[in-house]
Amino acid sequence: MIETAPHNQKPEPPQLLLAHHLRKLKLPTFLREYDKIAKEAAAAGLDHPRYLLRLAELELIDRERRMVERRIRAARFPAVKSLDTFDFLAIPSLNKPLVLELARCEFVLARENVIALGNSGTGKTHIALALGLAACQRGFSVAFLTAASLASQLMEARDERRLIKLQQSLAGVQLLIVDELGYVPLSQTGAELLFDVFSQRYERGATIVTSNLPFEDWTSVFASERLTGALLDRLTHHVHILEMNGESYRLKTSSARKRRRASVEAIDPDTGEILSP
Ligand code: ADP
Ligand code: MG
Repeated sequence: MIETAPHNQKPEPPQLLLAHHLRKLKLPTFLREYDKIAKEAAAAGLDHPRYLLRLAELELIDRERRMVERRIRAARFPAVKSLDTFDFLAIPSLNKPLVLELARCEFVLARENVIALGNSGTGKTHIALALGLAACQRGFSVAFLTAASLASQLMEARDERRLIKLQQSLAGVQLLIVDELGYVPLSQTGAELLFDVFSQRYERGATIVTSNLPFEDWTSVFASERLTGALLDRLTHHVHILEMNGESYRLKTSSARKRRRASVEAIDPDTGEILSP
């Protein structure tokens, strides 16, 4: 309802009512900027439509930014990482053009899957986070979980009789990222519940899986050949595989640091002269 001042009272200053209405309409940027932009518009000789256009544009830009931030929070990334900080030279086995293509997120719209395979420390989680961030920026809903935590959340939900609700919310996200499949073996119930999640997403939503295990070893995670076969069947029907075998980036950078430190120690601290070993 529009609030107006009663007859026998002094009318409220219009700014107060305007602030109230703009808050109610959820136009915070409009409210924050209208005075400043009005002064700028007057100084620049802008007419009213252009003044209002400027305010509407600012509100839209801010709203988009707020929405991306909300999606990032909802995704529950353990860290925010992007491709800008990823060194492709460190992992020659990785198909860079494919990663850049995936970052355009057409695979999310097409409900396709991505599987990143490789030994520990080669940047699988980093790439999964970067693709997740790109999806948030393009307006998709994203959820990030490790396989172990997803399995335990599913089991907990089942015990508390809210499994269907959790399953529905997992099926509803446009991009589900399941990290570290294979690091810990799953219980039979955990494996079956995880299988159901992949099954329910089949051709309905995009999924990224990272794993340190080659496909032939997935049976050891799911404990059953039948389940593993059915899972791989669904997961690999529309799939982009990222081969990420190589030297561990963590080890590489820490040995580079050690080398740098060693070379610093070889300089005489007094004279600055390089000491021969
Ligand atoms: P994985 O998931 O394959 O075990 P991570 O993605 O956790 O590996 O990588 C380990 C650490 O090294 C992370 O901090 C990650 O950001 C960093 N890292 C790995 N590969 C690269 C790379 N090619 N460029 C930049 N940082 C990297
Ligand atoms: Mg990882």
